[in-house]
Amino acid sequence: MSTGTEQSKAWFERAKAAVPGGVNSPVRAFNSVGGTPRFMVRGEGPHLWDADGNRYVDLVSSWGPMILGHAHPRVVEAAREAASSGLSFGTPTIGEVELAEEIIGRVEPVEQVRLVNSGTEATMSAIRLARGFTGRSKIVKFAGCYHGHVDALLAQAGSGVATLGLPTSPGVTGAQAADTIVLPYNDLDAVRQSFVDNPDAIAAVITEAAAGNMGAIAPDEGFNAGLRDLAHEHGALLVMDEVMTGFRVSAAGWFGLEGVAGDLYTFGKVMSGGLPAAAFGGRADVMAKLAPGGPVYQAGTLSGNPVAVAAGLATLRTADHAVYAALDANAKRLGDLFRRELSAAGVANNVQYAGNLVSVFFGEQPVRDYAGAQASETWRYPAFFHALLDAGVYGPPSAYEAWFVNAAMDDDAFSVIEAALPAAARAAAEAVK
Ligand code: PLP
Repeated sequence: MSTGTEQSKAWFERAKAAVPGGVNSPVRAFNSVGGTPRFMVRGEGPHLWDADGNRYVDLVSSWGPMILGHAHPRVVEAAREAASSGLSFGTPTIGEVELAEEIIGRVEPVEQVRLVNSGTEATMSAIRLARGFTGRSKIVKFAGCYHGHVDALLAQAGSGVATLGLPTSPGVTGAQAADTIVLPYNDLDAVRQSFVDNPDAIAAVITEAAAGNMGAIAPDEGFNAGLRDLAHEHGALLVMDEVMTGFRVSAAGWFGLEGVAGDLYTFGKVMSGGLPAAAFGGRADVMAKLAPGGPVYQAGTLSGNPVAVAAGLATLRTADHAVYAALDANAKRLGDLFRRELSAAGVANNVQYAGNLVSVFFGEQPVRDYAGAQASETWRYPAFFHALLDAGVYGPPSAYEAWFVNAAMDDDAFSVIEAALPAAARAAAEAVK
């Protein structure tokens, strides 16, 4: 239960003077739900505590990475041990090789891996590599998919760009966007046509392996396989963005659930256990084009940082079968509760899953693409979100984001959610457009 938000309010005022919008990533600012973002000071297991001492069941999990819950002792210990041996060397380290091997061992189509610092860097580098490998310029992406804030990939992007209702961003030049073809998600005919319209020009199709940035939308059966076939038929590469799904929806990410191989992959979030590291990888013949072995340049002062690598390795090594079973069970339990309470309050809803990513769309229609997500009754979301928040449940502050469970959620955490939901469902029912 809320004990007030004075500290968060005061810190937000101070933050707004020092940091644009008071935040270091837009969706944190609560712009689309209103109110004051909570300044978190501590996390443990399934919980977060804010600066006013309020406790929350955390259903954001740092936007995905914290599959084990917060401050997992093995991960903290691994990071502490690595930090005590030095924070950064700018040389090769053993941990980097082990993390690369761990990723390669889990995701079969990935033969080589390069570590970077964020998911954005991973997709930016994968796109450059795809262009360098094919000698072509154009990229196909899907509306509502978010691949980080890469200039060429911001067009009709999901996540914060969708939350703020932006078609793209000022500062992205016409030239940077001109080679990006944006198509509706789950529409293979549009992809087929685009290859016909742009002969020998498309370097890659990039897709979220399962969409999570316009809410959770699993690919239709055959969509990813169709993308692979069309790309290959036309000499292009398929880039599977598993930054969100990788090592969360299964030990081998979405690939582990579906088995459709991309040529290149991007990873982030879970693989670094909450510290800043990410990766891209894939076919050895494509990765061979990267510097220093090949001509496509890519680099990073802090890439493969030993502390981030240690946290990532500890997370992945701890994430055994039981952890993935718990994630799946918790996602289902959460979705079932959403469905039950919203239906009881008379709110039309579609609880959707992409693996263990969950989202709730208000409205009658199942959502298959960005237009569908935008057509849902997103105006009910702020009331739903704030009623949960006031009762100690921290959900994503945007109707366009997925809910991320973690394996530390226990009956106590679920009892808080269960107690909070009836009032939140009523608030959603009473919301006005
Ligand atoms: N790709 C996907 C699918 C993502 O969900 C995200 C971030 O949410 C990114 C790329 C960008 O990652 P980062 O925020 O680490 O730059």
